[in-house]
Amino acid sequence: MTISKNDTLFERAQKTTPGGVNSPVRAFRSVGGTPRFITRAEGPYFWDADGKRYIDYIGSWGPAIVGHAHPEVVQAVQEAATRGLSFGAPTEAEVLMAEEICRLVPSIEQVRLVSSGTEATMSALRLARGATGRDKIVKFEGCYHGHADSLLVKAGSGLLTFGNPTSAGVPEDFVKHTLVLDYNDVGQIEEAFGNFGGEIACVIVEPVAGNMNLIKATPEFLQALRELCTRHGALLIFDEVMCGFRVGLGGAQALYGITPDLTALGKVIGGGLPVAAFGGSAELMSKMAPLGAVYQAGTLSGNPIAVAAGMTTLKLIQQPGFYDKLTASAKRLAEGLTDAAFEEGVTFCADYEGGMFGLYFSEQPPRNYAEMMAGDRARFNTFFHAMLDEGVYFAPAAFEAGFVSAAHDDAVIDETIEAARRVFRQLKAA
Ligand code: PMP
Repeated sequence: MTISKNDTLFERAQKTTPGGVNSPVRAFRSVGGTPRFITRAEGPYFWDADGKRYIDYIGSWGPAIVGHAHPEVVQAVQEAATRGLSFGAPTEAEVLMAEEICRLVPSIEQVRLVSSGTEATMSALRLARGATGRDKIVKFEGCYHGHADSLLVKAGSGLLTFGNPTSAGVPEDFVKHTLVLDYNDVGQIEEAFGNFGGEIACVIVEPVAGNMNLIKATPEFLQALRELCTRHGALLIFDEVMCGFRVGLGGAQALYGITPDLTALGKVIGGGLPVAAFGGSAELMSKMAPLGAVYQAGTLSGNPIAVAAGMTTLKLIQQPGFYDKLTASAKRLAEGLTDAAFEEGVTFCADYEGGMFGLYFSEQPPRNYAEMMAGDRARFNTFFHAMLDEGVYFAPAAFEAGFVSAAHDDAVIDETIEAARRVFRQLKAA
């Protein structure tokens, strides 16, 4: 029997890195088995340490929207690298990138570049608290906004009580201002504002949620958030780190026609290198240092190589028809998988928004975290591994959305659907 390089690397990795990975979901804990160690990626594919090719439906968890190693992005990075790696001083490229983001996302008049989604949401929250002079924040169960202390929180014991930390090392004091409510529940948010209206600094939400599988907000829910925030002097923060430039140009706010006060961006805007951002009106953003009293900074913020990858990606996604094609690919995949499952007699459905999709082993797509958790996770795990054997890499957890890129053409999608058909057949027989 040949020894798998993935197994060997995983064994070695676990000696020097906690769990063998630098971000927990990569460890395959939820689905079991050995994570694949990736050696290279191109277009819709990547290859693991054993030389096996996979159709990749993660795209680095969102950034690879134009496909892996797009030649124009790679060239921009190479050219930028020859001019120096980091200056810690402003560049023209950052000006261009800020101008581009402000042009594409009308709610953003000014933007600050950072290096991760966590920084973007954490800084947006600080700004919201600084601008309103209030402490309390509202988030929704199942939405992930990065790993800042006050956001690692789950709902308290009673409805409308403040939250409990979901991570060791987060003092209860740090989450005592965070109220966690159910996604898509207009009644709860009305009640929350009824109880605490004058104390709430902001509501932060993923307008298309991608961290509890894919769950779309209802238009009424987002509309209610907008109206309640306005009425009570709280700020509405759209965390579009995942859905920004993913569900369409202009993000979820353009899709739903709702204007948030602050927006967090990430993933796509870095095209695979570390760029994230937060922005809003010029008046709000003027409260940031060095103009205002809200402090935030970063050694590598606006890094020239990362900005080169991001700007080139932003250029590519503006090609005519880009999102029509991306959406058509996600639709073809979601509908093809649903049909195949139906034909094989497996309870399954799928949904999509732009280039994001969700796969569910349930009759209907979930509308909130509790419904998502009620899905058949054991079945997902079996499906995941069987698809992996077939050379198709979906997210290694039932809680995650998937992503198609511009490089996922019809042939790649159809190959995936045929592989899934074989797997559904096995599932039914099992
Ligand atoms: N917000 C959302 C909606 C995300 O999906 C993520 C990452 N998955 C983050 C914030 C945090 O981003 P990062 O991992 O770059 O810190």
